[in-house]
Formats: sequence, C-alpha cells, structure tokens
Amino acid sequence: MLRISSVWISLLLFTLPIVASQSLGLWLAKPLANYLLEQKVAEIKQALEERHKELDTALTEQLAQFDFDCGPTDMALLRDPRYYSAHIRLQGLTLASGASCSSLGPGLPIVITTHQDDIRLGNFGLTATPAKFNTEQELVAYYQSGENIAYWVLDNSWSHQLLQHPCANCFYLEFSEQDPEVTTTYFPRGDKTIKSEEGRRSLSFTDPAVLTRQTVWAGKALNQYALQQVRLYGLWAGTLLGVVLTTGYWLLRNYRRSLKGLLQAGLARQQFIPFYQPVVDSQSGQVVGFEALLRWQRGNELIPPGAFIDYAEEQDLILPMTSQLLEKVIADLPQLAPNQWVSVNIVAAHLEQSHLHDLLQRHQWPSPARLTFELTERKPIIDIGAASNQISALQAKGYHFKLDDFGTGYGGFAYLQSLGIRQIKIDKMFVDTIGTDDLKRSVLDATIAFGRESGMEMIAEGAERQEQVDYLQRHGVHLIQGYVYAAPMPLNKLTLWLLAWQQHHSKAA
Ligand code: C2E
Ligand code: CA
Ligand code: CA
Repeated sequence: MLRISSVWISLLLFTLPIVASQSLGLWLAKPLANYLLEQKVAEIKQALEERHKELDTALTEQLAQFDFDCGPTDMALLRDPRYYSAHIRLQGLTLASGASCSSLGPGLPIVITTHQDDIRLGNFGLTATPAKFNTEQELVAYYQSGENIAYWVLDNSWSHQLLQHPCANCFYLEFSEQDPEVTTTYFPRGDKTIKSEEGRRSLSFTDPAVLTRQTVWAGKALNQYALQQVRLYGLWAGTLLGVVLTTGYWLLRNYRRSLKGLLQAGLARQQFIPFYQPVVDSQSGQVVGFEALLRWQRGNELIPPGAFIDYAEEQDLILPMTSQLLEKVIADLPQLAPNQWVSVNIVAAHLEQSHLHDLLQRHQWPSPARLTFELTERKPIIDIGAASNQISALQAKGYHFKLDDFGTGYGGFAYLQSLGIRQIKIDKMFVDTIGTDDLKRSVLDATIAFGRESGMEMIAEGAERQEQVDYLQRHGVHLIQGYVYAAPMPLNKLTLWLLAWQQHHSKAA
C-alpha cells in the first residue's frame, strides 16, 4: 500500500485549505460584489431618509417664522445654527421686491427659475444649481410663497463620502427624476466611467418622498475589491483551517501511537489471544488443566501482559480484553480433552460489578465444569460484599474460582473466607525459595500447612526445577504449573506438546 509520510500529510492538510480558499475566492467574489452594491443602495436609502427627516423639520420651522423681508428676523433665521444641519450648505430668500439675502449675507446669484420640469409638491419644489464652470450641480429645495422664494442649497458631500466606502471609486450614483426625459435635476456622483464599463451592474430605487430616482452603478473596481477581500479573508480562514487540520492530524496520530490508542486498535483487530500453560499432576503425570495467559499479537510481535496489563486496567480496557480472550478460550475448549479445565485471569472489577456474570450469560453459560477463574490478591478488592455475591451466584452455576498469587497480597486468608474460594495458587515467589535458606520459605511451609488443613486445592506456580516439584510433592502439593513442564504456548503448539507428553507418559508407564 502506498504510504505517505506524515510530514507530507501535514503539508497537504495545511496547504489544501489555503489553495481551496483562494480558488473558492473566484466563486465568491461576484456574490460579494453584488452584496456590497445592495448594501450601498441600502446605505444611500437610509441616508436620504435621514436627510428628509432633518430637512422637513428645519424647513417647516423656518418657513413658519420668515417675514420675507430680509430683515433682522429673516437674517437671524437664515443663520440660526439649529436650522443649519450638515445637509444644508446655504440658504436664502429671493423676494418679490427683487431684494435677496442669504446665510452668507447678500443674496446669491442663484436664480431659482421655477421650471416646468421641477419636481413640485405643493409650494415646495426641487431644482438644481446650474452646471457652471465644470462644477457639480447642487440640489436646491425651494418654497414659493407668492412671488417670494425661500431656498436651501443642499449639501451633497455625504454622498461623496458614502460612495468612497469601502473602496475608492467603486460606485457611481445618479440622481435623477423618475421620468428619464426630464433632465433638470440630474446629479452624477462618483466615477462616471463605471456606467459604461463592461460587466457593470446597477440598482435603482425611487425616493417616494420627492419622486426622484437613484441609480447606483458598480463595475470592475468593486469586483476587484471584492476579489481582494475574499482572497484576504480566504487566506486567513484557509490558514486557520490548515492549522486546525494539521494540529488535529498530529493529535490523532499521537493518540493512535499512544499505548491507549494502540490497545484500542489491537482490540478492534482482535489481536488479544490466549497462550496456554499446562498444569500437571506431578503424581500421575496427567495434564489436569491450563492457565490461559493473555498475549498481544501485533504482526510478528508477541507482547506479554506485563507490558500493558496494568495500564489496560487503569484505562478500563481490561474488560473488553478479557471478553476477547474468553471468546477465544471458549472456541478452543473442544480441542482439549473434556476432563481438562482452562483457567482465565480476572480482575476485581469483573466481580465488583456483574461484568463476568454478564459476559458468561452472553455466552449462554459455557462449560461451567471446565472454565475456572483466577482472581489475584495482589490488588485489593474494594467491594468484598459485591464480589462475594457475584462469586456465589457463579458458583451456583457451577463455575470455580482460584485465589491467584496467594500470600503476596494482604487479604489472602480473609479473601478465602469471605469470597468462599476453595482453590489457591502458590506464587512463584515462594516456590523460588525451595532449596534456598530464604526466610520466605517458612511462609511457603505455613501456606502449604494451612491449605492442607483447610482442604484447599493448591497449585504451585513457577516451578522450574525437578527439585522444587519433589519438595512440593513431599509436602502434599501435586498440581504444578511451571517451566519445569512447559511454558505458555499457543493452541497449535499446545496440541503438539500434549501429543508428545502423552507418548512420553505411555512409554514411561
Ligand atoms: P500470573 O497469573 O501469576 O501468571 C503466571 C505468570 O508466570 C505468567 O506470566 C507465566 O508465563 C509465568 N510463569 C509460569 N511458569 C513460570 C516459570 O516457571 N518461570 C517463570 N519465570 N515464569 C513462569 P505472564 O504470562 O507473563 O503473565 C503475567 C501476569 O499477567 C499474570 O501473572 C497475570 O497476573 C497477568 N495476566 C496474564 N493474562 C491475563 C489476563 O488474561 N487477564 C488478567 N487480568 N491478567 C492477566
Ligand atoms: Ca494467574
Ligand atoms: Ca500467579
């Protein structure tokens, strides 16, 4: 299979979102440009509404007070800062008498020639300053009272500011009358060339209050700006996503490579298998049973439980491991003689909750006479009551329990009593003392004496020399598990070993 190095994967995970975001930018730029145009139109609408509101109040208040004589009252009104909003550039009066005045003092050469085309609403009208000297026209609102006219030259600089945002020269605004034939009030704002650009777009709306029409145009400049923005944000988003993906990848990779991840993968791949170590009756030479010992088979590697069992227990992985092991043991049982038992190691959690009970129930109570369980006293059992209840229930089903590593923990004798266990396994630590003057040998002798007197079935573990077997035999311990007979082995090797063992024995007999 093609294996890509993790550096390459990281590089790909980092760069792909960036590349993707940049190409996606091409797709997103146009919708963004459209959106910006819509936004601009909405902004203009809103600005106009605000202007209407401000002007409405200012104009009506002023009109109610004008004397239309350019006298002190009129002058004060024209210069009153309350009516001088940001929307009014200048204001003035042109009187029937021919006199005129303005907020600047003298009347201005603004000739309000009320035109037939002007937008009229009652006495109000809207017209424009004449287009002179290549300057922009300004919108002029006026009020006609007989032959007197009050006018307000409106300040349109707001539209300039509005049109330069978010990018310079991206919009072009035309302000005209609804009727395209009428050209008196026609104000172009912004970059007019946009209107004739290829691929330009425009949005129009009518201002119902003053019957005018606004058209906003956008073209290349806005597209360019949108593309830039999309690329810029895409670069950030792509980089961020790249960093997240790469970090995620490394976290996942490290997790997978961590022991927990490896154990979980091993469970998923059914890599936990039993090795069997025979237990021999040294008197008769018969193989009475086997201990199933967990092995982790990773490819060609065979990992003994010492390397992972404590960690598996900590991480709550021992339960699925035992269930995987037990499944295999159940499947192997028919290949062993019907009078031979197989012992499976369990932990306190199996009995403190009903895990073992549930597991056996799931398998419809397999071979109670042949499956036995070893509970170590090396680790404390917290809930003795619950464990004892579970053991009783399973003993009632016909299953047997052994106390493993007897003498190495603290609860030994107490456990035997409260848990109702009738079999003990004498730990290798004590068997090792045979033939030495180790002080622990007295513990071995005391344990054997206790076992004999209380009618316990005893199995001695870890016997490596015949001398140890002989000593144990002399003291009444006949069941031996140790290298002196055989090391743990997989089922296929075990069947061969059993054949050889039988042949050897029938010859000896
Ligand atoms: P244990 O239950 O006391 O198992 C006996 C250990 O002593 C086994 O080690 C066995 O291979 C080793 N042994 C047997 N005879 C001899 C001998 O003559 N000389 C020497 N040097 N060693 C001998 P193993 O298989 O490495 O297992 C170690 C421990 O891991 C077991 O000790 C048991 O506590 C635990 N274990 C093994 N399988 C399981 C399992 O399925 N579940 C649980 N919870 N624990 C397990
Ligand atoms: Ca054991
Ligand atoms: Ca043991």
